[in-house]
Amino acid sequence: MSTDSDRILIVGAGPVGLCLALILAKKGVRSIVVEQLRDDNFLDQVPRAGSNHPATLELYDEIGLYEKLEPRGLIAPLLQYWDREARIKVAEFDHAYLKNDTRFPFVLQCERIKIVEEALKMVRANPLCEVRMATTFTGFSQNDDGIMATVETEGRTEIIAARYIVSGEGARSIVRKQLDIDFEGFTYSDNTLNIEVAYDFSQHGYTERNYISDPVEWSNLFHWKGPPDRWRVHFPADSDEDPEVLTTPEALQARLQRFLPNSRPYEIVGSNIYTVHQRVAQKFRAGRAILAGDSAHVNSPIGAMGLNSGIHDAFNLADKLARILSGEADASLLDLYERQRRHIAIQHTQAQTIRNKKLLQEKDPEIRRRNNDELRRTAEDPKLAREFLLRSSLINSLREAERIQ
Ligand SMILES: Cc1cc2nc3c(=O)[nH]c(=O)nc-3n(C[C@H](O)[C@H](O)[C@H](O)COP(=O)(O)OP(=O)(O)OC[C@H]3O[C@@H](n4cnc5c(N)ncnc54)[C@H](O)[C@@H]3O)c2cc1C
Repeated sequence: MSTDSDRILIVGAGPVGLCLALILAKKGVRSIVVEQLRDDNFLDQVPRAGSNHPATLELYDEIGLYEKLEPRGLIAPLLQYWDREARIKVAEFDHAYLKNDTRFPFVLQCERIKIVEEALKMVRANPLCEVRMATTFTGFSQNDDGIMATVETEGRTEIIAARYIVSGEGARSIVRKQLDIDFEGFTYSDNTLNIEVAYDFSQHGYTERNYISDPVEWSNLFHWKGPPDRWRVHFPADSDEDPEVLTTPEALQARLQRFLPNSRPYEIVGSNIYTVHQRVAQKFRAGRAILAGDSAHVNSPIGAMGLNSGIHDAFNLADKLARILSGEADASLLDLYERQRRHIAIQHTQAQTIRNKKLLQEKDPEIRRRNNDELRRTAEDPKLAREFLLRSSLINSLREAERIQ
């Protein structure tokens, strides 16, 4: 049994858990990360997330992660909105408008799997971090001095002691369930189908990140660095339909051909279907247990806010944990973490992602026309475009969190 009581136990080597370990280490705090996946299947996880916003790039840069990710990603200064029915580009936003607000006036298209691969290498090389792969967290208890967590590794049960436990386990967080914290919100009735295609959509005028509205079949279209380069297209998928039927090669090909007719078949390199939730935990903290990232909030990927806001949680939390462990502050500082980050999850991430989906799937022709006019007007006016980008790139949400006391 480990008796090390000055460290933080982080459950889950996702982007949030690993970044938290790196920031804590930078502040001189030791941590242990437990991850249920093994070294030989860690990089086999389904493709998700990858648009890293300017505010997040600044944070990656603070821990030396940005320089590892940039060569593996694509720099995307532009964001486009399209109308599929009218087959027109409605508006184009250029992150260059943020040049006085951030050192990174662009989005870095770099998938979650590359982020965790690079972050795990850095965590392993850091003497203040310990990582246990193939180690599944199953429960914990807490008292005035610390926490005791139960983990299982290859059939062996072990107890790990630490001062605090942070759940970076993702949406199915055992910590959250054990604490009986409600995950308030809703689940969309339609699922999302993701198709990965080896085809260069830029020849049709698309940029690295595109949101495409349509009264019947909205889409997102994103470009990822290879080799080979891939584009990811999202479509709504009827949750009553059999996922196997929706993902036959013929069904996927038909979707893509309807989206953009092509004389040759598209080269499809993968597909998956996922359920989309909009939920925020009723509390982010109970005593020595803290929720961060997807264990605290989940949202639709339209707007690319889940991973980004989770990384922002990690930075906010690391600062407070370090101050508590050094004796500079008491544990009530963690209530401020909850006030700041839960407010942002509800007022920014949830509100904006719900709005984004509504915008893309709007059916009323009059409202669609008004939406398109407003997007056009916003993109063409430098002041409005900057304000739009400050919101979409999460710079505003970080600034607002700092103002909450
Ligand atoms: C299709 C899709 C596209 C997305 N695109 C974007 C995007 O472009 N931008 C964006 O910001 N967000 C996006 N998101 C959301 C993003 O993927 C998540 O918000 C992000 O991965 C959350 O990170 P996390 O570290 O909190 O949790 P996760 O990434 O879920 O990681 C949790 C880790 O914990 C481990 N774990 C779980 N349970 C246990 C246990 N009991 N014991 C030990 N280990 C455990 C898991 O194996 C995993 O490694 C997307 C999501 C989806 C589904």
